[in-house]
Parts: sequence; structure tokens; C-alpha cells
Amino acid sequence: MAEKIGFIGLGIMGRPMARNLMGAGYELVVYNRSPEKARELADEGAAAAGSPREVAESCGTVITMLPDSPEVEEVLAGEGGVFEGLREGSLVVDMSTISPVVTRELAEEARKRGASMLDAPVSGGEPGAVGGTLSIMVGGEEGDFERARPLLDVLGGTVTHVGEVGAGQVVKACNQVVVALTIEAVSEALVLGSKAGVDPAKVLDVLSGGLAGNKVMEAKREHFLGHDFEPGFKVELHHKDLGIALATGREYGVPLPVTAIVDQMLEESKAKGRGGRDHSALLALLEEGARHEIGTGE
Ligand code: NAD
Repeated sequence: MAEKIGFIGLGIMGRPMARNLMGAGYELVVYNRSPEKARELADEGAAAAGSPREVAESCGTVITMLPDSPEVEEVLAGEGGVFEGLREGSLVVDMSTISPVVTRELAEEARKRGASMLDAPVSGGEPGAVGGTLSIMVGGEEGDFERARPLLDVLGGTVTHVGEVGAGQVVKACNQVVVALTIEAVSEALVLGSKAGVDPAKVLDVLSGGLAGNKVMEAKREHFLGHDFEPGFKVELHHKDLGIALATGREYGVPLPVTAIVDQMLEESKAKGRGGRDHSALLALLEEGARHEIGTGE
């Protein structure tokens, strides 16, 4: 029988990932802050634990998929947290996108308890989580990576060991810079093309075939053209990620000028009530600036 795995954080990403592990034959012990999400998986065969500590007490490997650094700190190091239930040799795999600095501090705490930790953030979004095709960037010891590899291979299509603990989060920050700036650039192009009288679908068709072509145009096409901002990946999470990138840039002395601008645009989107919308809703901000909604002629 396959190993028993703990899974904490059953949101847009965590739920399908946990399902894929169950589908691959792993026995799961799950926990989520809002218990109805854990109950849903319990109905499908997982065991629901009463606290993160209980998860760690019953599983040698614990995966977390939580929103941000404070939640991961609370779930791992807080009262009733994973660290209280760790055994000698336990492995924590944090797949959330959080600060590399916080990651390193938590990994050190785990080490003091005789356990180890990997950071394994992902890209590929909800479709990648559902399809088990995520791109996973892993930081930590080689031996821990090899130990987690069979699990990560269930969850992802590309699983890459990128360096020491925290390195996964650094690569993820780089990824988020490129995705945010691309969404912004595509949005600018759509508003410019449309207000100047060209069908925005044609703008996407043509740009996709040349050097300007990119996966954002493909994956977010219907979101942009249909003004469908159902998440997906929320504006507030992407804003959090650019905060991580900017803080990392500050720590290492790397100016990220355009990231700083897009960070502020995401801040404005949140202030305008779009924090829970898909990150493609950056388009709406540019439309407001131009007083023009794409595809409507207004
Ligand atoms: P989400 O908000 O849908 O899910 C987070 C889950 O964690 C929720 O179920 C919430 O109830 C639970 N939670 C929050 N605090 C908790 C706590 N203290 N204890 C237990 N459970 C708690 O977020 P998501 O979209 O699934 O994203 C999760 C992580 O993955 C984030 O770090 C995000 O940046 C990253 N990520 C998301 C996507 C995406 O497309 N959604 C893609 C790549 C990476």
C-alpha cells in the first residue's frame, strides 16, 4: 500500500492536487481552515484531521498549499501546527507561493526538530492542478527531493530541482514577474487596438503568430475577450507574489522597475474591489484609463 500523505489547504489548487494523489493510490489525511472543503474530500475517501498537528502526527510527509507566508507560518509553526506533530525524519513539502526568507526560516525550524522541508511552488494554474501537469520548482536537499519525487510526479509534468531550500520560491517569483508583466502588456495592446478600431480577437490572432505570441494570450484569451474574470488565479494572490519579487529584489539589490508599476496596478485593482477576480482583470483597469471597453466600440 502507498504511503500516507498529509495535505493542508484545499482551495482552487489544493483540492484537485489532493484528488490526483488519491487517484494515484495514496492514502490522504486532509485539513482545511473551512472544514466543508475537507469534508468534501473525506466523502471521496480521505481522512479529515482536526488540526495541522494531527495531520503531522499521522503522516511522515505533509504537503501544504496555502495562500501566503502568514498562513504557512501559522499552519506549520503556530499553536496546534505541523511542527508540534513532526516525527524524526518527517518531510514537509510547501507548495504554496511564499517568501523565500520565510521558507528558509521555517526549514531551519523543521531541521531543529529532526525533520526536513522542501519548497515546491508551482505554475500551470487550476488546469495544471486538475490535469496533474503543473510545472514544479523545488528547493531543498537532493535526498529530500528524491524522496518527494514520486508524489511530485503525480502532481506535475515538469518537476525540477532548482537549488537549496528557498530556490523554488525565487524561481516562482521570477515566473510571476513575467506572467504579470505579460498580462499587462497584452491588456495594453488589446485596449489600444480596440479603441483604434480593430477587432480585439483579430489583434490576438495576429500577435499570436509572431514574436509577440505567448501563453498568456492563449490561456487568457476567453477571459479577455469575454470579460470573464472568474478565477483562476486571483488578483490578490498575484499582488502578493509581486510583493515577494520586489522584496527579494530589494534584498539582493536588483531593481525591478516595471514590476513595481504593475504591482501598483494590482493594488489599484484590489482597491476597486477586484482582489478576488482573475488576474486577467488587469484589462479592466486599462479599459477604465482609456474610457473604452474592448470589443464594444465604446
Ligand atoms: P485558495 O485561496 O483558493 O486556497 C487556499 C486554501 O487554504 C483555502 O481552501 C483556505 O481555506 C485554506 N486556508 C487558508 N488559511 C488556512 C489555514 N490557516 N489553515 C488551513 N487552511 C487554510 O488559493 P489557491 O489559488 O489554491 O492558491 C494556493 C497557493 O498556490 C497560493 O500560494 C497561490 O499563490 C499558489 N498558486 C495558485 C495558482 C492558481 O492558479 N490558483 C497557480 C500557481 C500557484
